[in-house]
Amino acid sequence: MRSTTFAAMKTKTLKKNKVNVVTLGCSKNIFDSEVLMGQLKANKFEVEHESTESDAGIVIINTCGFIDNAKQESIDTILQFVDAKEQGLVEKVMVTGCLSERYKDELQLEIPEVDAWFGTRDLPRLLKTLKADYKHELVGERILTTPHHYAYLKISEGCDRPCSFCAIPLMRGKHISTPIEDLVTQARNLAKAGTRELMIIAQDSTYYGLDLYGKRNLGELLQRLSDVDGIDWIRLHYAFPSGFPMDVLKVMRENPKVCNYLDMPLQHITDNMLKSMKRGTTKQKTIDLVNSIRDEVPGITLRTTLIAGYPGETEQDHEEMLEWIENTRFDRLGIFTYSHEENTGAYKLQDDVPAEDKQRRASAVMELQQGISFDINQTKVGQEFKVLFDRKEGDYFIGRTEGDSPEVDNEVLVSAKSDYVRIGDFAQVKIDKAEEFDLYGTVVK
Ligand code: SF4
Repeated sequence: MRSTTFAAMKTKTLKKNKVNVVTLGCSKNIFDSEVLMGQLKANKFEVEHESTESDAGIVIINTCGFIDNAKQESIDTILQFVDAKEQGLVEKVMVTGCLSERYKDELQLEIPEVDAWFGTRDLPRLLKTLKADYKHELVGERILTTPHHYAYLKISEGCDRPCSFCAIPLMRGKHISTPIEDLVTQARNLAKAGTRELMIIAQDSTYYGLDLYGKRNLGELLQRLSDVDGIDWIRLHYAFPSGFPMDVLKVMRENPKVCNYLDMPLQHITDNMLKSMKRGTTKQKTIDLVNSIRDEVPGITLRTTLIAGYPGETEQDHEEMLEWIENTRFDRLGIFTYSHEENTGAYKLQDDVPAEDKQRRASAVMELQQGISFDINQTKVGQEFKVLFDRKEGDYFIGRTEGDSPEVDNEVLVSAKSDYVRIGDFAQVKIDKAEEFDLYGTVVK
């Protein structure tokens, strides 16, 4: 929920049995909010997601505690609802998720107006506080907040990796894989409800199964999910480079339902940065892995995420990263500026890169990527792509190819003046024009 305006929330008769859930942060938080809403509904609560016109007596804020900006947004949202409570626009304010997990003790003292605080694995206790029961039989049944034709599928919780900059293990705990049977049941339920695309998410999806089956089992999971009728696309996110399960690539190449798409945050490329970040890999191994992935799955769309300004990063490190990006030509790339997070391994290092240098380096990377993305997109003009349509906006129907994940990647725009497509449907589209991050096309009759 972005910049909630309460002007619309005039004094109303508040419904004691109605909950407005507000989600901040990543797709894993979206998944958790959807599960929470499913449980509340099963307990006869009325639920809504991020309503600004709410007459809900209770608001539950699912917070993010990842890095500075995200933490600030969570605190601002909590304070907004505390304000609303003082104005009688809501009766109970409850906070859950990563920020609460990480800073509950301090926050309880700083914002006493909040009625209750919960951690990231506290759903049963949260429900109990609302005199509701945790219903085990629901097996991930949830209320989707995404357009129903696509849904996030969280395959595990937590992370066992030691990445020095990352606070996620502090908030999400150790890695726990969800059994394949439960995930297949979830996929079946979603398909029955009209979901056609599954977004596989985790903190580290490539670690899947090691705890539960004693082996990396992501390949088998993808196969099993692809057997579910009604699911057309399965998209893999949050892969980790070291120990990458190469069998997954064979599944991707041979199984038409598994998108030729891979999101693999690499964070950096120079050996000294990768070592200090405890990424368990090297520059050469990273380059070799990217080359193997492209050899194994020709035409695969590769997305990565990087960090600018990690402690000790020199201008030379930055230049080396730029050169590597130039040579690798990722299809999709995002970058964060380093955030000095207490209780992480890197916190004992000096945060020695000035904020303006962090920002300058991140901007230089995105400027380079913009050019690369523009060039890559030009090669798509004249080609046809299978497109899944997500929404209509103004004069355009907007969708995505197999190479695009929602919210973060490119989009395909088809004029509503010349074509008609149903939202949630696939259509074959011929690309007529390409920009940095958007493609324009017409539906092939
Ligand atoms: S893999 Fe590394 S960066 Fe990702 S959640 Fe785990 S510790 Fe954090």
